[in-house]
Amino acid sequence: MTTLMNTYGQRELTLTRGAGTRVWDQEGNEYLDAISGIAVCGLGHAHPSVSEAIAKQAATLLHVSNLYNIPQQQALADALCQFSGMSQVFFSNSGAEANEAALKIARKYGNDMGIACPTVIVMENSFHGRTLATLSATGNSKVQSGFSPLVEGFIRAPYNDVEAVRKIAQSHDNVVAILVEPVQGEGGVHVPDKNYLNQLREICDQEQWLLMLDEIQTGNGRTGQFFAYQHNGILPDVVTTAKGLANGAPIGACLTQGAAINVLQPGNHGSTFGGNPLACSAGLAVMQELKDHNHIARAKQLGQTLLEGFHKSLDECEHVVNIRGFGLMIGIELDKDCGQLVAQAREKGLLINVTAQNTIRLLPPLILSDEEAQTLIDSISELVKQF
Ligand SMILES: *Cc1c(COP(=O)(O)O)cnc(C)c1O
Repeated sequence: MTTLMNTYGQRELTLTRGAGTRVWDQEGNEYLDAISGIAVCGLGHAHPSVSEAIAKQAATLLHVSNLYNIPQQQALADALCQFSGMSQVFFSNSGAEANEAALKIARKYGNDMGIACPTVIVMENSFHGRTLATLSATGNSKVQSGFSPLVEGFIRAPYNDVEAVRKIAQSHDNVVAILVEPVQGEGGVHVPDKNYLNQLREICDQEQWLLMLDEIQTGNGRTGQFFAYQHNGILPDVVTTAKGLANGAPIGACLTQGAAINVLQPGNHGSTFGGNPLACSAGLAVMQELKDHNHIARAKQLGQTLLEGFHKSLDECEHVVNIRGFGLMIGIELDKDCGQLVAQAREKGLLINVTAQNTIRLLPPLILSDEEAQTLIDSISELVKQF
């Protein structure tokens, strides 16, 4: 019995320190971190300018209520809109909460139009969070199991299937939005067809639906653009992000433009901590770093290097079903459950993740060196070949 609820199962490793792409455990063992706190520490651990911004802000003003102006919040909203082409921002403390804001916008948008029971199209195999609304939106029965009754107002379509969405448009008149990940992360790193988002954008325009993108994992430079939709030359109406936004300080954001702006009015939504000076100072330091250096272009280049390297070394391997990737999201699907590879990698000084039971997922930091990329390719290929 421990005093912690057992929501994460047994945890083998105690990390006490990090610097750049490396972390160290209690015994002083060093690890190359190829998962970045699940796509959070994109600029690496203990990034000097982020740490400095946090220390400065903590010594000045940790928190004030959203009853007052918060200049750091305004500045981070400005920077996010500049990077993304979006118009307005609401700050939360997590990804799930950012999606809650998006779902409330969809509901309000529908109700304002007089639509009874506004419904959001969500995808099979998706992941949107662990709150009641976001687990209801999630397309994974393991996440939902035991938590009925689920929140109503969702209808599901297969991922990367535009025809299925068109069919729903023909048979339902209460749809108000689509919520979709540009790449499914938790679901196993599934990359849709190149023009998938463009086609969804077209349908949303025709039907007056909101296109809502969950970029909690894909955002903040990881795919080689600040947001993944920027590869498609479109704008969503709503986009959510979190994970990498403040390199480890807890923050989430819901951004709107077009038909989704001003849907939420005073009194409709709020958060005690959301957008507080500390988290926003960390976020601002991240945005400044992304502005001053070529991390985002580097992510694209590193992603190609890793993908090509894995194809070269693993395409012939009989247990490899598929190797997928988009920027610094890499998935290697095997023909059997491979959770035990996490421990085997750890013994080699490498932190990786397995998702959807049989898919090795890599989310390395954007500051990975060429040598570290090669180490990743070599070590993981060796693990897979002897598996
Ligand atoms: C991680 C994640 C979430 C949930 O974010 P939390 O901060 O854990 O609430 C939602 N959607 C996607 C795509 C994610 O990767």
